[in-house]
Amino acid sequence: MFKKILIANRGEIALRVVRAAREMGIASVAVHSTADSDAMHVRMADESICIGPPSGTLSYLSIPSIVSACEISGAEAIHPGYGFLSENARFVEILEEMNIAFIGPSAEHIRLMGDKITAKDTMKALGVPCVPGSDGGVPDLESAQRLGAEMGYPVIVKATAGGGGRGMKVAMSAADMENAFHTARSESKAAFGNDEVYIEKYLTTPRHIEIQIFGDGRGQAVHLGERDCSLQRRHQKVLEEAPGPAITASERARIGKICADAMAKLGYSGAGTVEFLYENGEFYFIEMNTRLQVEHPVTEAVMGVDLVREQIRVAAGMKMSFRQEDLVPRGHAIEVRINAEKLPDFAPSPGTISHYHAPGGLGVRMDSALYDGYKIPPNYDSLIGKLIVHGRDRPEALARLDRALGELIVDGVHTTVPLFHALLQEPDIQAGDYNIHWLEQWLASHTVAE
Ligand code: ADP
Repeated sequence: MFKKILIANRGEIALRVVRAAREMGIASVAVHSTADSDAMHVRMADESICIGPPSGTLSYLSIPSIVSACEISGAEAIHPGYGFLSENARFVEILEEMNIAFIGPSAEHIRLMGDKITAKDTMKALGVPCVPGSDGGVPDLESAQRLGAEMGYPVIVKATAGGGGRGMKVAMSAADMENAFHTARSESKAAFGNDEVYIEKYLTTPRHIEIQIFGDGRGQAVHLGERDCSLQRRHQKVLEEAPGPAITASERARIGKICADAMAKLGYSGAGTVEFLYENGEFYFIEMNTRLQVEHPVTEAVMGVDLVREQIRVAAGMKMSFRQEDLVPRGHAIEVRINAEKLPDFAPSPGTISHYHAPGGLGVRMDSALYDGYKIPPNYDSLIGKLIVHGRDRPEALARLDRALGELIVDGVHTTVPLFHALLQEPDIQAGDYNIHWLEQWLASHTVAE
């Protein structure tokens, strides 16, 4: 097992990894920008190294700085968290050359899934059901129009290099295609430096259901059930739950096995998420994330596992500590993402936390790097905490979420907490009856007061 690992990330996820490492008797090295000198992950890690100025590009995304920090500290492995370098195949190749272990999959698998067209082709060949769409990239508007007519509208034009909901445009009818095609292309070029796009059938009322998988890199793989992440704003997840309210045990077993078998054939190593749209009882693959997800704690709660611990073990060459038959969901878990944002427009609200009190009690987990007096820098993502509750069933989890949100105090900045108080009053949310458009539609007709 490793003696020391470096965490190439910040905020709650860096803290999450420090905690897993400490329980395993592994020393942790935090890296930080000058804006994060007083951050909680820096305080909690065993060592810390400053790697650059506030700009993410010059610090958390700077491969030379992170590799140097690793060399200086003598860390044997790097955990990338999510975002930043977590899905950067070149970074993983450089680590391989330097003989530093990457706590995640191989560069080859990251590259394979990072290109969405290759990912779809690969998954299709492995027997995973995909959204009907173009065979590969669509080179020009004429081809896009021909495909639209063949497939039938609505369709969605998506960036091959896409991520974070960018470079995606819906064409409801043939008249929209020209605009959708050109906009998706130029957005994609601007965001990813690559203007290749592809086309999929646009599903009108799907849920976003994702399967957590885990592989040992030597041909063994399991699935850890699904998460329903349909509550989204601008294609960004807001609330996640497990098990999915619409998914039956037999559907879970069926799609879970398809994913686990695919990962076993690939020889995939570590944690990964296979994302699907789910409509009328059918699953349609959209993409795979080759890393730990923000919402992994709901799976940890219902499965009773520590996914970060497992990632570290497998990266160190150990066997997985669970078998498929051990992985049966128990109860129900819900996560809400608490952002430093001002409602109703979700405008970023950085600033100083004058008072922070985390909720507690049975079945409550608060993953956050906040503390009294902490100054949230304006340079990064606005996620400041994740509140995860676990109950024996969904009604108990909902009641617990309501209770825990009531205990939470975050003073000094605006947060998205009032949104969750309001959502909990909604009969559709109480019934688990929502799809990927529900939240946008609800927001269009409701103003959430602070
Ligand atoms: P990204 O990598 O940018 O997050 P995804 O392919 O994962 O992009 O899609 C993000 C979200 O966009 C999905 O959760 C869903 O809400 C919507 N979406 C993507 N593809 C489709 C589709 N074919 N039909 C309907 N909605 C889609």
